[in-house]
Amino acid sequence: MTARTNDIEKAAGVLRAGGLVALPTETVYGLGANAEDPAAVARIFQVKGRPSSHPLIVHIGGAEHLDGWVEDVPAVARLLAEHFWPGPLTLVLRRGPRVPLEATGGLDTVAVRVPDHPVALALLSAFGGGVTAPSANRFGSVSPTTADHVRAELGDAVDFVLDGGPSEVGVESTIVDATGDIPSILRPGGVTREDLEAVLGHSLEVPSMSRVRVPGQHPSHYAPRARVVLTEPEKVVSEAELAQELGHQVGVFLPASFADAPVKVHAVVAIPGSMAAYARGLYGFLRELDQRGCDLIIASLPVEEGLGLAIANRLRRAAGPRPTV
Ligand code: AMP
Ligand code: MG
Repeated sequence: MTARTNDIEKAAGVLRAGGLVALPTETVYGLGANAEDPAAVARIFQVKGRPSSHPLIVHIGGAEHLDGWVEDVPAVARLLAEHFWPGPLTLVLRRGPRVPLEATGGLDTVAVRVPDHPVALALLSAFGGGVTAPSANRFGSVSPTTADHVRAELGDAVDFVLDGGPSEVGVESTIVDATGDIPSILRPGGVTREDLEAVLGHSLEVPSMSRVRVPGQHPSHYAPRARVVLTEPEKVVSEAELAQELGHQVGVFLPASFADAPVKVHAVVAIPGSMAAYARGLYGFLRELDQRGCDLIIASLPVEEGLGLAIANRLRRAAGPRPTV
């Protein structure tokens, strides 16, 4: 934990004054505001360039603080909270009176989570309220997993950046709709589907790319500047070399076992052997390839189990059609 007590106090003061604080969490860095201050919440959307219909996650210090943030806590939500909080699981529940409509894009549900990071928890405790925090990046681009990423992308638009070291998980939380009797996964993330199913005792549906259930989303998200193209694992090298020959500056994602063989492209990222390390590194790799001047990134999808499901989801979104400008 790099942030000191006086940094935490300072950050809590910024939140109380209606300012924005970038805070470390175990998933990615968040752009936080006092969840009960509609003007501060509105500034988040402005700084991110995020459509105001796209709802935010409210971060609280523990399941014992749910009162007022949600209307009721169904048994299944209580079970999941007991098992996975603090942790990378967000529960969508019926909105309580403390949540302004600005934070939920007008929805009568709210997304809530307890982050598993000592600095985030210390801030929530010092502040005493709830903090709405989407990822601390411009809308649609790669999420930050270090304080430096936040400074590079948002600079002076944030009033204070709390540094808590690199995010351990590296991809966003898993979002589960727990408003009804049968929970469903709205977004795969840091808690695996298998872990959720083991606790629930039944299988869970995972949304396909074609069924975007949340308003305000467009297909491309988590995207670097370079165009991302996904292909079969065995075609990554040949397609990448061909694109490089055609004049692109190509970056490739290759399994570590391949990465030593000479590949005639601009930049190679060695995919770590464990899915946990891949998830932790994913956004940093995308940023690195942008920084190295790549205009095209070629990768294949990991097997979609465990954290591979979230990684594949982010890569698909990164490769999704870009909005026309
Ligand atoms: P971000 O914090 O940028 O990772 O985005 C927050 C995610 O939570 C987005 O995908 C939102 O669509 C989702 N989300 C927040 N509130 C709700 C809600 N009430 N119902 C469904 N999804 C939500
Ligand atoms: Mg985000």
